Amino acid sequence: MWQEPELVLHGGSVISMHGDQPDAAGARTQAIAVSGGRVAAVGSDADILALAKPHTRRIDLRGRAVLPGFQDPHAHPLHEGIQAGWLDLRHTSDRAEALRLVSRAASEGWDPLQPERWVEGTYHTADWRAGRHPTRDELDLAAPDVPVLLHHGSGHAAVANSLALALAGLTATTQDPAGATIERDEHGEPTGLVLGANPVAPFTAALPPLTPEALRRALRLVAGRLAEAGVTAISEADLGAIGSPVGELAAYAGAAFDREFPFRLTVMPGLARLAGPDDDPPSPADIAALIPRDVSGFLRVGPAKFFADGALTTGDAWLREAYADVNLRPDDATAGRPAHDPAELAERLRRADAAGWQIATHAIGDAGIEAALSAYQEILGGHPPGDHRHRIEHAMLLSPDLLARMVELGIAAVIQPGFVAEAGDVYRERLGAERAARIYAYRAWLDAGLALAFSSDRPFGGGAPLDGIRAAFRHAGSSGTRLAANVEPTVAEALRAWTAEAAWVARDEGHAGRLTPGLSADLVILSGDPTTIPADRWAREEDGLSVVATLIAGDVVYGTDALD
Ligand SMILES: [Zn+2]
Repeated sequence: MWQEPELVLHGGSVISMHGDQPDAAGARTQAIAVSGGRVAAVGSDADILALAKPHTRRIDLRGRAVLPGFQDPHAHPLHEGIQAGWLDLRHTSDRAEALRLVSRAASEGWDPLQPERWVEGTYHTADWRAGRHPTRDELDLAAPDVPVLLHHGSGHAAVANSLALALAGLTATTQDPAGATIERDEHGEPTGLVLGANPVAPFTAALPPLTPEALRRALRLVAGRLAEAGVTAISEADLGAIGSPVGELAAYAGAAFDREFPFRLTVMPGLARLAGPDDDPPSPADIAALIPRDVSGFLRVGPAKFFADGALTTGDAWLREAYADVNLRPDDATAGRPAHDPAELAERLRRADAAGWQIATHAIGDAGIEAALSAYQEILGGHPPGDHRHRIEHAMLLSPDLLARMVELGIAAVIQPGFVAEAGDVYRERLGAERAARIYAYRAWLDAGLALAFSSDRPFGGGAPLDGIRAAFRHAGSSGTRLAANVEPTVAEALRAWTAEAAWVARDEGHAGRLTPGLSADLVILSGDPTTIPADRWAREEDGLSVVATLIAGDVVYGTDALD
C-alpha cells in the first residue's frame, strides 16, 4: 500500500548491498525514501525528491553514505550490561596490579550489613607476563573476607577465592556441572579455577540473584553503545547464560516493548542447559511462548546454541595437535578438550534438528570444528538437503580439509575479526605461527564459497562493526605481526559480512540487511563512502570513518543532532 514518504535522504551515496555477487556492494545511488518505516525506493536525487510531499522530512546527506544498518549475529548484550558493573581488570599491567584492585574493591565496598555482596571482575591473562590465571591463594590474600569471582574476558574461565568456593559449596566431592570443569589439586580440592562454556555454573545458586531492574538497566546501557556503533539488529547468542531463559526473555521483551532496546533482536537459547543429553529439547515455538509481551516486530527466536569446545586464550579450545605453548597450565601439556563427548554432541544436535531448530555451534579448535561438522553431517545425511542454515560460531582454526567439508555441507561461519586485534599475539603463542596462519583466512574461505558473516561476540570481543572491518584488514594483534599475509576480504565483502550475510545467517534477510523496497528502513549513515577507502588505510585505522546516525524502521535512534 503506497503511502507518501515520511522521510527522504538525498545528496549522498546510498549503498544497497543488494546483489548476488558476493563481491558486490550493490547498486549505488544518491537518495532513499522511507515510507511506513520501510524502504520505499532508492534512486537518483531527482527521482527520489520527486516523491517527497509537503509533510515529508528531507535530510541532505551532504555527501555522506547510507548503508543497511549493521547486523550483529553473535553477541551477549545482557552479559555486557551486567559486566559493566564489575571491576574491570582487563588492561592492568600485571597480576599484582589486578590483585591490588581486588583488595581495594573488597575493603572499600564491603558492607557488613550487605554480606551477600560479591566482588566480581573481568580479567585477561594476555596482558600479563607469564599469563596464568590468578590463584585461589592469591585472591584469599587480596580479599579474605569477601567472596570474589573473577571472569576471564573470553567467558570460558572463572576463578574464585575460598569464601566464594565455600558459599557455593564446592568441595573435593562436588561433581562438575554441565558446561564447567572444576580444576582440582592433587588432593581433589578445587583450585578456584573453573573452565568451560559455563564456568559460572557452580556459583550461580550462591551468587546474589540479578533483579529484573538490574537486567533492564544493563540493556539500557548497552542500547546506547549499539546505536552509536550503527547496529540495528543483534542476536543474543546464549539465552539463559546469566540468569534464566524466562527472566532474560522478560527483560528483553520489556525493554523492546518500552523502546528502550529498539533493535531487531534474535535470541539463541543455550539448549544444552534446557534438556539432558537424552531428552528431546523444547521447540522454537515452546521458547517463543515464553515471550511475555507482543513484541513480534522486534524480538524473535533464532538458532539453538551449542558448544563443541572452549577458547584458545584459556587453552580449552579442542585441537588435533597439542598447544605449542603450555604457559597457561604448565603441568598439563594439552590439546584442549571437547565441551561434550562427540557422540553426545551429535545426539544433542540430532534432537535439536528434529525439534525444528536452526543450529549454531561454538567451535574454535580444529578438533572442535571437526566434531561439530561430523554431527551436522549425520543430521544432514538423515534428510534431504534443505535450507537448514546451520552454523559454526567462531570457526577459528579451520584447516583446509575442514573448510572443504564445511562448504560441501553448506554450513555458514559466523566469525569475529575483532578477536584477532585483541588476541592475535596470544594465538601465535598458543598455536605457533604455522597454525595461527590458518585463522580467518578470509580470501581462501570466500573463494571456496563459504557463507561468511561477521559479528562482535561483545563483550568478549570489541563491539563496533567498523572496528571489526579495521581488524579484518589489519589481521594482527597489538604487536602488529600479521597472522598471515594477503588474506584480506574486499571492502565490499567485509561490509556484506556485517549486513546482507549477517541477516542471512540469522534467517532475517526478508526483514533487513539490504536497502531494497519493502525491507525495514534500518540504516546507518557514515561520514564517508567506505567502499572508496583502500584496505591499507583501514588496516592502519586511517579510514577516518565514523557513524553519523543510526535509524531503525525510519526512526533516528542515534545522531539526531547531526541530522538537523
Ligand atoms: Zn559468544
